[in-house]
Amino acid sequence: MDKVIIAIDGFASTGKSTLAKKLSQHLGLRYVDSGALFRGITFWVLKNGWVSDDNLNELAIEKGLDNLNIFFDSVTNILSVNGIDVTEAIRSKEVSAQVSQIAKLSFVRSFLLNQQRQMSLRAGLVMDGRDIGTVVFPNADFKFFFTAKPEVRAQRRLEEMEASGHQANFADVLKNILDRDRIDSQRKISPLKKAADAIEINTSELSLEQAFDLLIAKINTK
Ligand code: C5P
Repeated sequence: MDKVIIAIDGFASTGKSTLAKKLSQHLGLRYVDSGALFRGITFWVLKNGWVSDDNLNELAIEKGLDNLNIFFDSVTNILSVNGIDVTEAIRSKEVSAQVSQIAKLSFVRSFLLNQQRQMSLRAGLVMDGRDIGTVVFPNADFKFFFTAKPEVRAQRRLEEMEASGHQANFADVLKNILDRDRIDSQRKISPLKKAADAIEINTSELSLEQAFDLLIAKINTK
C-alpha cells in the first residue's frame, strides 16, 4: 500500500498499539505510536521537576519545548528524548499518572501535531492515539475506534506491565485507565472521541488474531 493512512483511536489499553503494529507489518506501512510521544514529553517534564500532583509549571514546559528533540523510530519503535532511549521508561506508573494532564496543554498538542503530520509526508503509516482520525489525519483512508470493558483492559495492561518488569496491581491499573479516559474525553482541545466515519471495534471478547482478522476484513471490504 502506498501513502495510505490508517488511524486507530480509542480508550486506554484496548489493544490499539498491538494491532496497529501488526497491521503495519502486514500492509508494509510504518507504525507510529502517538501515545509514546505524549509519554516522552511527560517523562521529560517529570525529569525536570515541572509537574507533580499539585503543581504544573506550564511556563517552563512551553519554553523548554523550543529545545526538545523527541523522535519515534517507526522501524525499531524506539522513542528517544534528546538522544536518549526512553522506550521502557515511558511505561512507568509515574508517567502514566501524569500524561493526561500534560496532553491537555495546547502548546504540547500543537508541538506534536506538527511532528505527527510531518511523519506522513514521505510514506503511508498506521498511527494510533486518541485524536488521529478526528484531528491529526481527518482525511485518513481508514479510521478505527477501539473500545473494551474497563476490567478486561486493566487485566491486559497489568499483564503487559508485569511482563516488562513494572510492578503494579489491578486496582491501581484500573483507576489509572479510567482517570485517563475521563481526562482525555473531557479536555477542550482534541478530546478522545470517535470520528463520525470511524469503524468501532469492541475488543472485549476478541483474541488478538480475531481482532486482526476483523480489521483486515473491514479494510478489504471498504
Ligand atoms: O496510547 P497511550 O495510552 O500510551 O497514551 C498515553 C496518553 O497520551 C493518553 O492517555 C492521552 O492522555 C495522551 N494521548 C493523546 N493523544 C494521542 C495519543 C495519546 O492525548 N493522540
